[in-house]
Amino acid sequence: MDRLDPHPVTGTPLPSPAPPGAGWPGDPARPGTPVAGTPARVRRLASSAGDLGALQARISVCRACPRLVRWREEVARTGRRAAFADQPYWGRPGPSFGDPQAEALLVGLAPAANGTNRTGRMFTGDSSGDFLWAALYRTGFAARPTSFAAGDGQALTGLRIVAAVRCAPPANRPTPAERATCAPWLQRELELAAPRLRTVLCLGSIGWDGALAAARAVGWGVPRPKPRFGHAAEATLGLPDGRSVRLVGSYHVSPHNTYTKRLTPDMLDEVLLSLRG
Ligand code: SF4
Repeated sequence: MDRLDPHPVTGTPLPSPAPPGAGWPGDPARPGTPVAGTPARVRRLASSAGDLGALQARISVCRACPRLVRWREEVARTGRRAAFADQPYWGRPGPSFGDPQAEALLVGLAPAANGTNRTGRMFTGDSSGDFLWAALYRTGFAARPTSFAAGDGQALTGLRIVAAVRCAPPANRPTPAERATCAPWLQRELELAAPRLRTVLCLGSIGWDGALAAARAVGWGVPRPKPRFGHAAEATLGLPDGRSVRLVGSYHVSPHNTYTKRLTPDMLDEVLLSLRG
């Protein structure tokens, strides 16, 4: 029998990885949620997801990238960081988090093995996330200055966090094939967000490239040549209904950037505040 550990907020004993419907706070999936096991099935299940709830449920049980499924589950079972050894690990793809009516999306790269892969929430449980959530709180998007576990009361208003890749990759590096396999989930996020969407903030060049590629794939107008990524770089995307969406870049909140002060709290606050127009 799988080992059970108490969830840090609810105390519910849970196996790692957490099966759909086992009681993880905010788990969008149920035991019958359809599972994508191939790139073709990702495309089909993403394009047929009728709303954000169905989309997040399907993302959260996806198994289409064998290397990433192995890695996320191995970390969850036997590769936990010592500080979290007595906690259950989510061990599944990270669903989007935030306001379903958001006018702004924040596009990250991929979950961290002991962050989202442990907590089941984007940017939660690692130092990158600590830096980001403090900024989201200062700029009025987040209800709390920290985000430590699903069920902790954290919430976003006006913003939803999505990602170019949903599973934690070894060495934080998804392969080009894995990025391509995961892309339809982001494409569907854009389509479902489009009626309200005004801005897309991309953390890092991979988030920037992923958002541009997803926008192009769903038929949005993307400038040519491809706009260059940079901190506070901007580009305009054209929606099929004639509206436009601002694409904004920010250096990623990785420790490499924040410890070296390449990205400071003031710099991040400034781009977040610019999302409000
Ligand atoms: S990276 Fe994306 S496509 Fe690959 S298994 Fe995870 S959720 Fe599925």
